Amino acid sequence: MYLPQAELGLRSEREQALAKTALALMGDCDVPPTPENYELFYTYSAGENPGVGRVIGDMIAARRPFTATVLQELRDRAFSRDRTERAVESIGETVTASLNETIAKLEEAGRDASAFGNTLTAARGELGGLDSPDGLRKLIGSLVTATKDMEQRTKTLEQELQNSSEQVGELRAQLDNVRRESLTDPLTGIANRKAFDTELLSAMAEARASGEPLALFMCDIDRFKSFNDTWGHQTGDHVLRLVAGCISENTKGRDTAARFGGEEFAVIVRRASLLDAMKLAEQIRGSVQSKKLIKKSTGDVLGSVTISIGVAELSGEESPVELIQRADMCLYRAKHAGRNRVIGEDDPSISPFETDAA
Ligand code: GH3
Ligand code: MG
Ligand code: MG
Repeated sequence: MYLPQAELGLRSEREQALAKTALALMGDCDVPPTPENYELFYTYSAGENPGVGRVIGDMIAARRPFTATVLQELRDRAFSRDRTERAVESIGETVTASLNETIAKLEEAGRDASAFGNTLTAARGELGGLDSPDGLRKLIGSLVTATKDMEQRTKTLEQELQNSSEQVGELRAQLDNVRRESLTDPLTGIANRKAFDTELLSAMAEARASGEPLALFMCDIDRFKSFNDTWGHQTGDHVLRLVAGCISENTKGRDTAARFGGEEFAVIVRRASLLDAMKLAEQIRGSVQSKKLIKKSTGDVLGSVTISIGVAELSGEESPVELIQRADMCLYRAKHAGRNRVIGEDDPSISPFETDAA
């Protein structure tokens, strides 16, 4: 691509300024200067990923530390989406190329058919002027050849169309895989935040249309930081998988269990009242607590982990964010009340009349 000198200069000046800003920010925030972190902060400085940019901006403003886990999550969020987009783009290009090829084949077939039509019309004209059996034999001979030719071309075209329809089928399957991947949390295999956001919107719309209740609960692993500090991050990751497993084992087809972020999970319980959802939450809490953790490599008994859960039921015209916040507030109360428990929004500690009643 040709770029005028001045534009080239401008581009590299801007890039240099962005690179400096990114490095300075990394220094200010105590972020290890690895290439991956640099890519993340460069993307942030360039404003290329508003979603992740907002999180980083909020973290900087609140002076929250960029731990290894946080950085990993941010990179996953910033770049896994890019990867998905690139994969979808490349599949799209292949489909377009394949369709263009098919269209070209069909146009060619159209030309062949019209040439064949012309041969037949010419033959009809010749038929009138024939005065000898030899001439008739020749004419029939050339018609037979033209017909065979046409038959052959039709067969080839059919084969080619068959091939391209198979190719399009394969690409569609690939696209389905990419879509599924883009909605799945790679660590735990359950729905990711993106899938959760979409599901919550549609569940809320369904509940409002049908008049049936809808509940949401937020789960958070108790004292997980100290678990990681004691046993290591990798063992921590196993625990995340175990908790995700307990949640999905206990949720039915119409419920959606998702990794909300870090060590937090969210479950959308469709057609369920607060009480129904609290029963399910209690079942999950008990199931997580009952698992005995043993480190396979060493046989060390790691004890067990527990989770706290906050439950809220959809009310009025509230937004998804408001519903999540209400469930989160119950989760916060569950933590403060001693952890390893389920608290619903009907809990007296949540009631706005609490102080009046006391
Ligand atoms: P609390 O009971 O109040 O929730 O305490 P906590 O230690 O769980 O809470 P805090 O928010 O202080 O720490 C959450 C920890 O979760 C920090 C981080 O070590 C861990 N964590 C978050 N995401 C991951 C992950 O993907 N893998 C691992 N192994 N740990 C993670
Ligand atoms: Mg947490
Ligand atoms: Mg926690």
